[in-house]
Amino acid sequence: MKDRVFSGARPTGRQHIGNYLGAIQNYVGLQEDYQCIYCIVDIHALTTLEATEGLQENIHEMMLDWLAAGLDPERSILFVQSHVPQVMELHTLLSMVTPLGWLTRVATFKEKARTQPHNINYGLVGYPVLMTADIVLYKAGIVPVGEDQLPHLELAREIVRRFNYIFGDTFPEPEAKLTTTPLVLGLDGVKKMSKSLNNEIELAASAEETRERVMSAFTDPARRYRSDPGHPEVCNVWRLHHFFNPDQIDEIADECRDARRGCVECKEQLAEGINLALAPFRNRRAELVARPQYVKEVIADGAHRAHAIAIETLTEVKERMGLI
Ligand code: SF4
Repeated sequence: MKDRVFSGARPTGRQHIGNYLGAIQNYVGLQEDYQCIYCIVDIHALTTLEATEGLQENIHEMMLDWLAAGLDPERSILFVQSHVPQVMELHTLLSMVTPLGWLTRVATFKEKARTQPHNINYGLVGYPVLMTADIVLYKAGIVPVGEDQLPHLELAREIVRRFNYIFGDTFPEPEAKLTTTPLVLGLDGVKKMSKSLNNEIELAASAEETRERVMSAFTDPARRYRSDPGHPEVCNVWRLHHFFNPDQIDEIADECRDARRGCVECKEQLAEGINLALAPFRNRRAELVARPQYVKEVIADGAHRAHAIAIETLTEVKERMGLI
């Protein structure tokens, strides 16, 4: 039996290049060596969403992207968090062994309390407990994380240790599988690529839409005229070339530095590289779009398989806690 991996992602709708290079590509690779459970965490989204309009569409679009990118429902369990409601029960039970002080000291909670002072809800405080429940409900031993997420996983491990200490060995302590995710900046060249900042390039965009987006990208701010020498090291277009035209990186940089290359042609080349790389994804996605029932079936089947594991774990937890 392969080790079990769990990872969840918020329902952000159509995915962008940053999502692909940062997470989805890694998800696809892990399927080779692990039994993977990938979840769209719609309940987590409610902590910051005040209106849920469009939530179902976002889930559907995100699952389409996952499938088109190579997540395989035959090998992995792909589902939506709220479709297996046992996670909320486990969240409540784990909250009984989680000191409040552990939660209020979490940096992301403090940050959210600062950025959304009008909506400091319980869900924000309890977020790490629900995240722990997500992982341990399926007894996943491995969680792919970036270095910035290590403190969250450490808190999950503390909750697990405390539960196991009080009620006996029940859950494996989830281990981090550190992933080296490249920082992909958006078209502004300043902030991480993000839909909310409108600086993204969607995977599912058409070739022409992609070209238009790339042409709007910021480049070297010091280069005002075509004849000015450029500084590729400060240019995000050049950084994006690393992913889509890796063999030509040095050549592009040299041509930029001595002004043999203009930014317009450089962006044209990047757009071509992106469109070429994403063509198979876009073809698969178009096939899936033509089969809307299939995506629904994948989500239903994922929930069914996740539910079977969840029931077993929750029964054990209730027995341990004296509820049965
Ligand atoms: Fe950036 Fe390319 Fe323009 Fe150089 S030529 S500044 S690498 S877009």
